[in-house]
Amino acid sequence: MKRIAIAGILTECNDFTSALITEDDFERVELLRGQQMLERSDGVVGGALSELAKYPDFLPVPLLFTSTIPGGALTDQCFTKFHDEIIELTEQAGQLDGVLLLLHGAAVSVSVADIEGELLQSVRKVVGNDIPIMVTLDLHAHITEKMVSLSTALFGWETYPHMDSFTTGARAAKLIVRTINKEVSPVQVMARVPVLTSAINASTERPGPFFDLMRKAKEWESAGKCLSSSVFLVHPYIDRPEMGSGALIVTDNDPETAATMAREIAQEYWDRRQEFEPEVWKADAAIRDAISKAPSRSVLTEVADTCGGGSAGDCVAVLRALLEIDANIKAIYPVVSPHAAATAIAAGIGSEVQLSVGAEIDKKWGPPVSLTGRVLKTSDGDFMYQGGVWDGASGHMGPTAVVRVGAIDIVIATFPTYEWRDEQYRSLGLDPADYQLIVVKNPMNYFMTYSPIADNFYVIDSPGPTPATCKSLVYKLMQRPFFPFDDSIPGGPVKTF
Ligand SMILES: [Zn+2]
Repeated sequence: MKRIAIAGILTECNDFTSALITEDDFERVELLRGQQMLERSDGVVGGALSELAKYPDFLPVPLLFTSTIPGGALTDQCFTKFHDEIIELTEQAGQLDGVLLLLHGAAVSVSVADIEGELLQSVRKVVGNDIPIMVTLDLHAHITEKMVSLSTALFGWETYPHMDSFTTGARAAKLIVRTINKEVSPVQVMARVPVLTSAINASTERPGPFFDLMRKAKEWESAGKCLSSSVFLVHPYIDRPEMGSGALIVTDNDPETAATMAREIAQEYWDRRQEFEPEVWKADAAIRDAISKAPSRSVLTEVADTCGGGSAGDCVAVLRALLEIDANIKAIYPVVSPHAAATAIAAGIGSEVQLSVGAEIDKKWGPPVSLTGRVLKTSDGDFMYQGGVWDGASGHMGPTAVVRVGAIDIVIATFPTYEWRDEQYRSLGLDPADYQLIVVKNPMNYFMTYSPIADNFYVIDSPGPTPATCKSLVYKLMQRPFFPFDDSIPGGPVKTF
């Protein structure tokens, strides 16, 4: 039997938020050890396992897999704990023929800038240079030279909104089987350009620059010109050296072709960089415009407070504008505010409560909002994801209350959660179609979710750690020059490794 170890630490980090990710955050979302991993039929773990199951002479050796929703950097203690456990399990795993690491690519700890590279280095040390290590990543990965040099092949998700963690796990498993069977000898080249933008104009499902780049890369792959292609838009909300976007091409022992193809995509990425910068609205202007368009339904995305990008979810700029404008228009608003949720729950359904909402966890982005409202509903905050990276997994908002102020229903949760579709609202018995104005906090998934029921979409420019344009952030470790701050790069924008 050929034995393939499987392990992973999967999350996305944000260096502009105050809250750090701890072991508790992983335990609350997904922490699987050994045999528990074999029960996972969805997601990237399920995809890797289902592919390996097709080969009777291959055996998965599940070590540890953990994921959590994005947040700040991991505490060093948290990274060390999972890193050391994975390395110990790798050492105890006996003879291995390959390793699959299921990672994100934009995770950091307080003092380690590249935890994926660090983990790869440690695994390499245990298993040596003679067996393949293949790695699945989010397409928002921060690809470092260390990751490329220490792995045999890296694979990014192919879709954004992310719908293909299962098939990406399967792609990696398939190539590792072919490699171990000596059908192919993979080599990989990354070409990167210093472009940091939000993901707003980076759908793979509707026309735009990222759609075109991904299509080109995937056409090469399906035509057999390469073994695998990945296009990366670096998660722009970490602040570490050498960040950038571009393409990674894996060929069958043909590094020159891999480099040529990767460079072509990276250069086109650079040439089209302006197309990635979104059109934005101030909150009050967007609300007034949405009101003027009634009765057609509008979606406002407070993208600077994207929990799926590491925000604490407790920015309240759009809520403040909604309350100030006080238009008596039915609106729904999500926020993380643990004390406010606890106060509302303690008061009970039907009670009138005075609350201070928001700015509890990450206080850098403006003051909380004071309001008086009526408690409409309360819940334990559990829900089930209906798609995406956590398809079939449970989500936990923690104790949650819905508080009504005028015509605005505010969903006040205890923990941040990733927004895939509208699972959070629905778990509370709220139907977004009952509202004229729907506020969300994500850069992309809102369009997939609400385009069937809404006509007007507004990307809001407001304070927070995941803004619509990186221009409003101050980077300290990521060194200039880079776009959008700089528009020319001495020596050329494309770096290949
Ligand atoms: Zn992503």
